[in-house]
Amino acid sequence: MPSFVAPSRDSRFIINEVLRIGDLANLPGFEGASADIVDAVIEEAGRFASEVLAPLNAPGDQQGCSRQQDGSVTTPAGFKEAHRQFRESGWGTLSAPEQFGGQGLPHVLGFAVEEFLSSANMAFAMYPGLTGGAVNALLAKGSPELQQTWLPKMVANQWLGTMNLTEPQCGTDLGLIRTKAEPQADGSFAITGTKIFISAGEHDLAENIIHLVLARTPDAPEGTKGISLFVVPKFLLGDDGNPGERNAVMCGAIERKMGIHANATCVMNYDGAKGWLVGEENKGLAAMFIMMNSARLGVGIQGLAQAEAAYQNGVAYALDRRQGRALTGPADPAEKADTLMVHPDVRRMLMDARAFTEGMRALSLWAGFLVDLTHKAASEEERVAADDLLGLLTPVIKGYGTDLGYKVATDMQQIWGGHGYIVENGMEQFVRDARIAMIYEGANGVQAMDLVGRKLAKDGGRAVQAFFAEVEKEWAAANKDERLAGLAGSFAKANGELQTATMWLMENGLANPDNAGAAAYDYMHLTGIVALGLMWLRMARTATAAIDAGSDEKPFYEAKLITARYFGERFTPEAGALRRKLEAGAEAVMALPEGSFARG
Ligand SMILES: Cc1cc2nc3c(=O)[nH]c(=O)nc-3n(C[C@H](O)[C@H](O)[C@H](O)COP(=O)(O)OP(=O)(O)OC[C@H]3O[C@@H](n4cnc5c(N)ncnc54)[C@H](O)[C@@H]3O)c2cc1C
Repeated sequence: MPSFVAPSRDSRFIINEVLRIGDLANLPGFEGASADIVDAVIEEAGRFASEVLAPLNAPGDQQGCSRQQDGSVTTPAGFKEAHRQFRESGWGTLSAPEQFGGQGLPHVLGFAVEEFLSSANMAFAMYPGLTGGAVNALLAKGSPELQQTWLPKMVANQWLGTMNLTEPQCGTDLGLIRTKAEPQADGSFAITGTKIFISAGEHDLAENIIHLVLARTPDAPEGTKGISLFVVPKFLLGDDGNPGERNAVMCGAIERKMGIHANATCVMNYDGAKGWLVGEENKGLAAMFIMMNSARLGVGIQGLAQAEAAYQNGVAYALDRRQGRALTGPADPAEKADTLMVHPDVRRMLMDARAFTEGMRALSLWAGFLVDLTHKAASEEERVAADDLLGLLTPVIKGYGTDLGYKVATDMQQIWGGHGYIVENGMEQFVRDARIAMIYEGANGVQAMDLVGRKLAKDGGRAVQAFFAEVEKEWAAANKDERLAGLAGSFAKANGELQTATMWLMENGLANPDNAGAAAYDYMHLTGIVALGLMWLRMARTATAAIDAGSDEKPFYEAKLITARYFGERFTPEAGALRRKLEAGAEAVMALPEGSFARG
């Protein structure tokens, strides 16, 4: 059975040494960011993930969830107890607002913990994970009364949240939503309709389930301009504020699916269920986007998390399994064969995994830090700048992060050879679980369109200009150190490709929108390479400084520099190919008549 240990040292390196959040401890909201607190939270959360959640991952996958005749859903053995421990240890409240009972710690810390939980047991982590997004939406758009009613127990994870967008006829295109919301005399709404694929829609982990539901009021305009957001609880609250009468929302079925078996994916039937409007009528999509943006970052972290868990088990196997001899002569003459570690092709996969996971960890933690800055930076200018960068990076973290996360999971399965294909060894679960992250929360092609179609042009390109300015600053600093000149040089080339591609898109995307659509995916990956490159520059500079300062953890920092060099040599060259591909435009992509696609 696979094992997992939290990559605590790496998370601490990024938070304390690269992002240096301790330097901000004098800012309101960062008081809890001292290195001591960061270290304690990281260590404890890592222990919880590896000791409590990881052992439930494979059994949970095999057992799955089951729906009972009365519509209730039972989670796999051990999940209830694990959730009780999760709740009592306060892992779900880390960066939740203190006003509603949260600990108010920086989000960057919450993101680090989220990665550990998701590596250990992605299906489990999704139950409280979605609640965090629902809390954010209610915080941003809910009335004080709604916030007071729902948030304290959601923040405490006593009640868990869900996100209800998808319907049978409506996936990516939310303008097609049909679920109805009829106003009632008491100010509430009666919600009627069917939602499908609702993660954690029904389960036995919490006293109440709080659904955030998109629906249409009677005279709402067609399309996305006529969608409103409602909060609909599984149990209505009694006068004492505790769950009482059952609301008219039931789980009609749970899906049998490829992975995340231990997370219940539900068909939810709303039959005049009582709900309350969140924010303004017909402005529901904007409100839901707050939840979706938070969830998209969470899904990007899922990609990283599955890659990390798979990597650890790929390494363990490569160190143990003996097959063949090193090309340069036996490495272990006393044995009949060398370990898989001697084969450059196995090393290639392991180094790809290291370069991705460590770079992606830095990127996702930087995003967590940007979330903090959007709320807590000293000036409005800094808050806006952080929000710009976060908006630009969110589709990249989601799309690039989950594509590469899946690729790494399959590479690690490859290292196990045929044994990786055998269920009891657990490597195929990482692949199955990682696959959904490329699909939900907006399929990755849709993320690419969000980047190219919305984020690039927004506010006259302010965000992408801020990104390039950040890149320029980091490159200039790294380029001064001749030990980093190789990495800085290859990074500069990749960044040049991204700038050229951006110009090409500005000129050709406007002239023909299909050019933007055909280029979007490659552009997202190209941005992903440069964003990870930026992280590797930062990490390499930090590692060099630590070695210069005589750190007694030299092997850790040297490994960083080797992996940085690998990233420069093996990831950045792809930027040129991506740029050339996308500059080919839409012509050949769209040329084949529709009727010619089907065979026969
Ligand atoms: C396990 C699981 C859990 C889920 N959890 C939730 C949940 O909790 N809440 C919820 O509301 N939904 C949930 N979903 C639904 C999920 O978000 C949707 O499946 C996803 O958004 C895609 O919608 P769709 O399946 O209808 O695909 P479609 O919209 O039919 O799209 C099919 C494919 O076409 C392409 N495509 C479609 N539109 C575009 C476009 N504009 N530009 C480029 N390409 C495009 C994409 O490649 C896409 O994969 C879940 C789904 C699964 C399988």
